[in-house]
Amino acid sequence: MEKGAIIKHNIKKAAATGSWRNYAPEVDNEKCIGCNTCVKYCPDACIILKNREDGKPTKLAEIDLEFCKGCGVCAQVCPVKAIGMK
Ligand code: SF4
Ligand code: SF4
Repeated sequence: MEKGAIIKHNIKKAAATGSWRNYAPEVDNEKCIGCNTCVKYCPDACIILKNREDGKPTKLAEIDLEFCKGCGVCAQVCPVKAIGMK
């Protein structure tokens, strides 16, 4: 039986996005509840949750636009519609 391997994702080794991207996601800081859904679904693994600076107890989604491909999956899966594609 062949053995499998799980390779840890390293965003810094991923392919950076070119100028061909048509849309970019924008997180509404007021709406985001830090649920982690977009983090799990992003096919480029370029979203992380960060501590807020506004004192709210929940985390906030932050998208690394250097690697985001503009697919819109994050906007589709967000349960509170906190991400808009611009
Ligand atoms: S638009 Fe696509 S690639 Fe960019 S953050 Fe959202 S899910 Fe990830
Ligand atoms: S799915 Fe929406 S509410 Fe949840 S962390 Fe992402 S942006 Fe925030």
